[in-house]
Formats: sequence, structure tokens, C-alpha cells
Amino acid sequence: MSNQGNFLHELIGSMSQGAAGNPTVAMVEAAFAHHGLHWRYINMEVTPENLGDAVRGARALGFRGFNCSLPHKVAVIPHLDGLGESAALMGAVNCVVRRGEQLIGENTDGKGFLKSLAAVTDPKGKSIVLFGAGGAARAIAVELGLAGVKRITIVNRTEPRGAELVELLCSKLHIESELVVSHEDYAIPEGTAIVINATSIGLYDANARLGLELSSLQSDMVVADVIFNPVNTRLIRDAESRGCRTVDGLSMLVNQGVIGIQFWTGVDPDTTVMRKALKDALSL
Ligand code: NDP
Repeated sequence: MSNQGNFLHELIGSMSQGAAGNPTVAMVEAAFAHHGLHWRYINMEVTPENLGDAVRGARALGFRGFNCSLPHKVAVIPHLDGLGESAALMGAVNCVVRRGEQLIGENTDGKGFLKSLAAVTDPKGKSIVLFGAGGAARAIAVELGLAGVKRITIVNRTEPRGAELVELLCSKLHIESELVVSHEDYAIPEGTAIVINATSIGLYDANARLGLELSSLQSDMVVADVIFNPVNTRLIRDAESRGCRTVDGLSMLVNQGVIGIQFWTGVDPDTTVMRKALKDALSL
């Protein structure tokens, strides 16, 4: 089998489980079409027991890369040839890139967030409050650490993953970090520049409220939310009512797609086309 020739396509996969109708397919394929790229992005149902065979299959079929979502983000690592810097620190991969004959694992979740944040502010040297300690929080915290932030306060409802993340930030990224285990409304300390919700609070619920004391939000703070559906979460609305600049989760999702396309194809895709395709696919 050959993938040479104009009429055949370069292939990118998306390995997920239970993600029929994956909206990123529409977003990535819209970018390919817009830029005249003869590439295809194909959603594939892969069960955990078949992950190794699926990666070997992608390798044998000459796929140029693939995304993987839960539950494969950690389990895929032993099947790859190497990891990018941030993926190695996070211990999680959501984007695999073929470089020569090697499959290299990257993580574009945090990179997508940083790209969205960069449109509003430079996090270097800043103090951050990050709600959450799951996969999204870990990805964002590591990229913020690599970007040279001064301090990250992790606020989480339970201790174990929060403590693990703080330990990673202090020992591997050498930034100041502390954990606040909180079940009540948390008051954002003065001097905080960026407040981020990286919990799942707000997903599919426009009225769900993050446990933060609204009066502690100051107008010079940037407030970001990883939740992309709905786009205008309660946190984003509340932050805007306090005069804060905001970054929504949809732009993070678009930008992780942008970075994946840059990794795979070398093309810098049009974000407007991608955001529209994603909004259409999600009926937003
Ligand atoms: P995880 O399950 O790994 O982590 C969820 C986090 O939310 C944990 O910190 C958890 O706390 C906290 N949490 C969940 N429910 C509650 C609650 N009721 N009250 C307080 N805290 C709660 O999920 P991910 O990190 O993978 O994803 C988090 C969100 O980010 C999801 O909604 C996902 O859709 C979104 N996301 C968005 C992306 C984007 O591009 N916009 C990319 C990736 C994810 P605890 O540790 O105590 O369980």
C-alpha cells in the first residue's frame, strides 16, 4: 500500500472510547479542507485492550499521527518511541506525531490553553490560582510552569491529586506552589493575576457555580475557564460582570487542534474556520 500521489490522503486518527460524533473531527477536517490539504482525520473507537494493536496498526498504515482521549492518554505511552518535554512531565499524551519513523507523544491541552491565554496576557512571573487537579489542570499547570510563572495555588475539593500536582510543580518545575483543599467559597488572594477553572464544574450546566468568592475577583485579573459547552459559563459571566478579561474553553479546544495540525502538517491553520466548524458541530 502506498500513500504517495495527489489523490490519496495522509491520515490522522483520533483514538477514543465512546466518543461517537467527536466534534473535533469536524474542526480538523474543516481546516484541512480550507487549506487544500489532502489529509483525513478519522475517529476510531478503540477499547483499552486493543490500544497496543491500534497503535501498531496506525504505524503500519503510515498514519502521520493521532489524537487520543480518555482512557488512553496515559496507557498509550508504552506504545510510543518518545515524549515531548511537557508530555513527559505530565505523564499524559493527547497528540501523537510521526517524526521520521518514530511516534512521539505530545500534549496539546496545556499548549492550547497557553495559546489562548497569550492573546490576553503573558503569564511569565505572575501568580496563578488554578481550580482543579485532574488531567486538564495538570496539563495547564505544567505549561504555565514551563512558561515561567512565579506561583501556582492549586484549589481542589480533595487532597491526593492536588498534592501530587503541587509536588510536581515544586520539584520538577521549581516554581512556588501550594495546595488549598476547599469545600467552601475560596477568596482569591490579592496579587493574583490569573484565575483558572480546570474542574469539570459548569460542563453542560450554565448555572453551575465554582466555589469562589465573587467579591475577591478584581478587574485587573484574567479569568479563564476550560469548560467549552456552554461557552459562556457562569464563571465567565460573573468575571465579566466584575470587569475581568476572560478566556473561554472553546478557544482552548480550538487552539489544541491548531497546535496538533501544526505538529502534523507544518501548516498554521485558520482559527476562525476551526472555531466556526466546532461551534456548528456542538450546536453552540
Ligand atoms: P478530571 O476528571 O481528570 O478532573 C476533574 C477535576 O474537577 C478534579 O480536580 C475534580 O476534583 C474536580 N471536580 C469534579 N467535579 C467537581 C465538583 N462537583 N466540585 C468540585 N470539584 C469537582 O477531568 P479533566 O481534568 O480531564 O477535565 C476537566 C474538565 O476540563 C472537563 O469538563 C473537560 O471537558 C474540560 N476540558 C476542556 C478542554 C478544552 O480544550 N477546553 C481540554 C480538556 C478538558 P477531585 O480531584 O476532587 O475529583
